[in-house]
Amino acid sequence: MTETTPAEPTDTPWDRLSGSPQDLAGGVQVENSGDFAAVPDAFQRLWTPHRMVYIQDGQQPHKDDCPFCIAPSMDDEKALIVARGKHAYVLLNLFPYNSGHLLVCPYRHVATYDEATVEEVAEIASLTQVAMRVLKATSRCDGFNIGMNQGRIAGAGIAEHLHQHIVPRWALDSNFFPIIAGTKAIPRLLGDVRREVAEGWPAAS
Ligand SMILES: [Zn+2]
Repeated sequence: MTETTPAEPTDTPWDRLSGSPQDLAGGVQVENSGDFAAVPDAFQRLWTPHRMVYIQDGQQPHKDDCPFCIAPSMDDEKALIVARGKHAYVLLNLFPYNSGHLLVCPYRHVATYDEATVEEVAEIASLTQVAMRVLKATSRCDGFNIGMNQGRIAGAGIAEHLHQHIVPRWALDSNFFPIIAGTKAIPRLLGDVRREVAEGWPAAS
């Protein structure tokens, strides 16, 4: 039986992964991980630089740099807008919970539902109904989560500009991946979904 030398107290598994290749018990050789640049290892990495928006910027936008105020001044494709009403408009969420996750926003920079005018409330409601019909027709979803997070404490990412979420749901669309890995798999690209929903939107709405 081969006798192995006990590791020094300061020798951690990580120390053993640096420096020259070393032989461990059982004939297993540990290679220098520094030689592994660009070589796939056992870990999959999901690069999410867009999340830095949340990490770096805890500040709420002012009207001048509010994404929901700026979006209507851009073209629909670039702003991910699918429909424009008189008082409110509909766009894809840049950070969707599911494919086809829409937001209905008033054009005015108001924070909470009680600040919206009667006309804005009515159009947010009617645009929400049309969005549901279009999503049902284009994506054959089985249900929806619809709602508003009012205030940052309630989960609103951009709390200063009112927006209603419309999240289409399918049977078996949820799993433990978001919980154990902090990751949500979105099977379709935003541009493709935007075009599909915009083309399915009735002209008279
Ligand atoms: Zn705004």
